[in-house]
Amino acid sequence: MDEEPIPDQHAAWDPTTAWGEAGDWSGVNSADTWGEPGTTRRIAIDGRDENEEVRWFDPAVRALRPGPGVLPPLLADMLHDPDHALHSVSTQPRTPSTTPHVPTADEVRTAIPHPNAYYCREHNGWVFLQWRSSTVLPPLVKEPDHPLPDQARRRRTTSCIGDGEQPFGPSNLTHHWHRYEKAVDASKLNPPYTHGELHLDLYLCCQCSMYCLVSDVIPGVIPAALVDEFTRDKLSHPALDKTPRATVIAGWETILTIIDNRLWRDEKRSLPVGRARFRNKVGWSDVVRRVFETIGFPLEDLQQGENSTELALSPPPIDPSTPEGRASRTTLLRAWVEISAWLAIYQKSKEQLGEYRCMDLHVKAESERDMYQTGIGAHVSQISRGKLPAALQGYAPLEESWRVLGMTPSTYSWELLAFAYLAQCRCDPANTMVYFTHLWMIVNTMIQLGQNVPQELQTLIVEERSRFRFTPDDLQEAAKILGFGRDGELGVELDDEVDDDFIVQAWRSARQRAWQNPADATSRRAKLNEALRLVAEHRGSEKLLKAWNDEKGSGMSPETAYSTLEVPKEVDETMLLTVYSMRVEDQPSQAERMREALSVIAEVTNSERLRKFLATGQDPGDSTVSNISPDMPRGLNQLGNTCYLNSLLQYFYTIKDLRAAIISIAQADSKTLDDSKFTDDDLKRHRVGGRLVTRREVIRSKKFVNLLADLFFNMEYCENPSITPEIELAKLALVTTQDEEEDDNDKAGTDSSNDTDATLVDDMAPRPTYDRATSSPLQSPTESVLGKRSRDGDSSMDIDTAAPVSSPSERVEAAAKNTPSPPAANMQDATDLINDAVASSSKLSPAESPADVEMKDETQSNKAPPLPPRRTRTTDDSVMMFGRQHDVSECMDNCMFQIETALLDFQGKETSDDDKTSPIKRLFYGKKRQRLTSLSPKDDAGHQSSIHEKEDLFSHLHVNVADEGFDLYDGLARYFDDVVELGGEKKRMEVSLVDLPPLLQIQLQRVQFNRETQQAYKSQAYVKFGETIYMDRFLDSADPTKKARSKEIQAELSAARDRVHKLTQGKHAPFAPALKNVAEFLSGQKVLDLAPDDDLVSSLRNEEALVTEQLRVERERTVQLKQQLEDIWKDDTSAAYELTSVFIHRGSSPSWGHYFFYSRNLPNNPDAWFKYNDSDVTAVSKDEVLADTTGSTANPYMLVFVRKGTDAIETVHRFNPETVEDA
Ligand SMILES: [Zn+2]
Ligand SMILES: [Zn+2]
Ligand SMILES: [Zn+2]
Repeated sequence: MDEEPIPDQHAAWDPTTAWGEAGDWSGVNSADTWGEPGTTRRIAIDGRDENEEVRWFDPAVRALRPGPGVLPPLLADMLHDPDHALHSVSTQPRTPSTTPHVPTADEVRTAIPHPNAYYCREHNGWVFLQWRSSTVLPPLVKEPDHPLPDQARRRRTTSCIGDGEQPFGPSNLTHHWHRYEKAVDASKLNPPYTHGELHLDLYLCCQCSMYCLVSDVIPGVIPAALVDEFTRDKLSHPALDKTPRATVIAGWETILTIIDNRLWRDEKRSLPVGRARFRNKVGWSDVVRRVFETIGFPLEDLQQGENSTELALSPPPIDPSTPEGRASRTTLLRAWVEISAWLAIYQKSKEQLGEYRCMDLHVKAESERDMYQTGIGAHVSQISRGKLPAALQGYAPLEESWRVLGMTPSTYSWELLAFAYLAQCRCDPANTMVYFTHLWMIVNTMIQLGQNVPQELQTLIVEERSRFRFTPDDLQEAAKILGFGRDGELGVELDDEVDDDFIVQAWRSARQRAWQNPADATSRRAKLNEALRLVAEHRGSEKLLKAWNDEKGSGMSPETAYSTLEVPKEVDETMLLTVYSMRVEDQPSQAERMREALSVIAEVTNSERLRKFLATGQDPGDSTVSNISPDMPRGLNQLGNTCYLNSLLQYFYTIKDLRAAIISIAQADSKTLDDSKFTDDDLKRHRVGGRLVTRREVIRSKKFVNLLADLFFNMEYCENPSITPEIELAKLALVTTQDEEEDDNDKAGTDSSNDTDATLVDDMAPRPTYDRATSSPLQSPTESVLGKRSRDGDSSMDIDTAAPVSSPSERVEAAAKNTPSPPAANMQDATDLINDAVASSSKLSPAESPADVEMKDETQSNKAPPLPPRRTRTTDDSVMMFGRQHDVSECMDNCMFQIETALLDFQGKETSDDDKTSPIKRLFYGKKRQRLTSLSPKDDAGHQSSIHEKEDLFSHLHVNVADEGFDLYDGLARYFDDVVELGGEKKRMEVSLVDLPPLLQIQLQRVQFNRETQQAYKSQAYVKFGETIYMDRFLDSADPTKKARSKEIQAELSAARDRVHKLTQGKHAPFAPALKNVAEFLSGQKVLDLAPDDDLVSSLRNEEALVTEQLRVERERTVQLKQQLEDIWKDDTSAAYELTSVFIHRGSSPSWGHYFFYSRNLPNNPDAWFKYNDSDVTAVSKDEVLADTTGSTANPYMLVFVRKGTDAIETVHRFNPETVEDA
């Protein structure tokens, strides 16, 4: 059986299965089939919701969940610094005292800020902390910024932890705490907090009635830093009779005693700090002064007798009947409690006190760490520690993962980790993939570090994967599998610009292509299905999910599908549907399987009719295609990495004569594939691209054209909305003869059995210095498929306008010897010179490789097609489906070359004039005149030798797309009149058109070169173009006066644009803002001590105004000049061309991206356009085609115009069954 075993996880997990009670996961995972219960079922957790977890990406279902939570151990860390213990503090009754103003019992009690305030010695401050189980929430100060957990669910359970508190037994491993920051006002509590405003963080367990309130640190009277300073000071300067620790204690005890005496003995005397007694007990320093200052004992001059004073600390008033008295009582009492508590805790470690006997304190401080840890469920007796493998302890890369999952590594156990993960997914479904990613990182790290991963965790990962949980890596891989990314066949990144329909199409066609290799088709398709599912979930796309659900199938192979329905492969669709309905009726129990079989056949045959039937249950009949109007052009399915080829094939199809010629020769005979029909002499009578062709090329070309004719036939007659071109066709289109020969050389070495070329041509010996291969993009540092060549394409079609020339071998010899050329070669040199100049034109991007500069005109020779030098393979080769990556125009040339070669007429005896009979030449080639004049003053301008002229054929015009703000005329103007550098000399090169072709192809050269980075980049500049263009001004026959005038204006225009460019784009530019900034800097800065230079500032400001004004003038000037230019030619409209095709590249890389194509519905509906996007063909408005593309990465790289009145284009060419005579 070639049928894929049904993947059990996927099949067993059925999202439509209803859940039982909470906690019942039996319907959810496939663990049953693995012989032990799945991990998720072994974790005590409740409140999960199947719908939310399945549809985690859907904002509608997750709106009410409280968001991320934390487990008790992490909460413990969050409540307060985990290294600090919090203490409960209590005061002891004192012996009664009779002095005035003794603190009342109430005053002493409220010296502790609140019954729930805990003292932290390290902070010398208090933390409000309360935990309790209550069905009533504390009063909230505001609407929480994220939802509260379900209160009904919370009320059902008193606490997640502890026996007997839950009537139904514990259903959760531990609490899941959710934080609501500063949500509770402490003054609204009972008892209220009365020492000022205090907002508490609220933590709610989403599973039980427990909540917890906590404050930030409420600082003590003496700042913690000062306490530390005093303590450190004592430790480092111990008294002679005491240990350092005893010195610390004695110091604080003295301060405490001073406070004590003030409050309980009404001690009012000042404390002279200079006296030995004070110095012995406390010492004197700035730190001591500050300590006393904070507790209300300012340092004052004490009058001692008539003339002397001494420094003394003056005690504060404590009379409660005065406001100051009340205030200092409160401060003193709080300080008294805090210092006592501090001492109580500090004294607890008795060591290093020596003989020192601590004084009795009236305050007790007990560490409550165990109590509050127990209260919130973090105690070691509740959650054990130390189960994390040693290798992972303190492993920094995972810190984030533990934190995100809401737990701490020290409390790791597989149960707790699994619980943490599931609880996060339950309470924060939106971030399910984030949690899965971190869970995966932890488990994966265990594996990487060689640790044993508990079986339960492994199972959990498998279970979750079977629910399509993914990590960012998985997502990236999924995009890759679907064909996105740098090396993908789609040529685009999977970003937000890509719409769902595009993804579905990509998925479908990749699934269909998978059948091309039946061996791994099922596994490949399973991967594609999973990839789509991940992408669908990531995007939260219902459309993709539906496509996945409807079409994923179970992995049935086409063979099984046909045999299931018991139909032969050749069955027609009507019969197929009849049989299908019959079988379903006969065996209702097999209906699902039958349906699956039908859907597989629908996919394999790419049948829209079957798809429709499956979707609606209605057979749309043979008229399926009528959904797509019969007039609609057909799409071309993607064929792997064929990039721009579909655009090109669609383009060829719109050209009436080309299409007709191709169909006619294919119909004429397939027997011409037999090479015996033409002799070697026949071959010598014809040229293509200015050279002879080989027998092999003729055969190859005929094959290509036959395949193309088949495709065209389908495009005319096929009922399906799209057609898949033959792989062989794509190969022949994309791979040049040279590539192929090289491959053969690589493979076959010396095998010459098929190398008939050598026998065909006798003057092959001198290897040419130029061939196409040397200009291959792979050779240049700036590889690009968008087209990097400028005018070399023309040169291969050069015609003989120069005088008789030396034979190529002579020229090569001459060049080799580096001797002066023989006289006869002078004219040839002139031609070469022009070619050279063309190639080295300064405006060309540096992508023009040196090979181009060395280009020589070979057309006069009677030479065989050159064999390319061996190239070393670069790794980029593997990127392309067919070995090498050529640029668009190269591929186009290759197609045209083959069409022309295939159309050669070997039957006619006479040497035919191929130029006249070839539809390629007739349609695409015009003739231009190139004139090169020296600009150097040393050359006599009138001198004959300084002017070189020649005529060439051309099939493309080139517009360099570098800067913004140019329209098509501007671009062409630069093509037709340019300054080039040749041998260090500047020459003017003027081009004019002698003959115009019916189809004018204008390439927009978007590949530019950044000299700084040495990188090619794609220029996204917008070049404005319209529906019509008039070429009159570029004609050789154009009015010379107008030409001269427009040349002047053009020069002025260029100069003005240059200046604008320099002022805004050049080095140091833009100038105006730079000057302004400097002026502002000089006038406004206060940092540097610069002498104010008002003159400089004002002259800078003037300069800025000047520059700004100049820019305005220049910009205005360019607009005027542009208008003048248009005015000159406004009446010259005889060479009118209409836009017919627009080729678009989308992407920012020059060497890859997505390609599509617009064609105007000529001749019948010139305002309508079609967009050909691989398999999709849609009608679009003209506005879309002509839109300003500024800011987009989708812009034209080639425009095609058709000469008005030539009727060369017929965009829609479809068989119409209603007019049968068409057939
Ligand atoms: Zn603390
Ligand atoms: Zn709880
Ligand atoms: Zn929760």
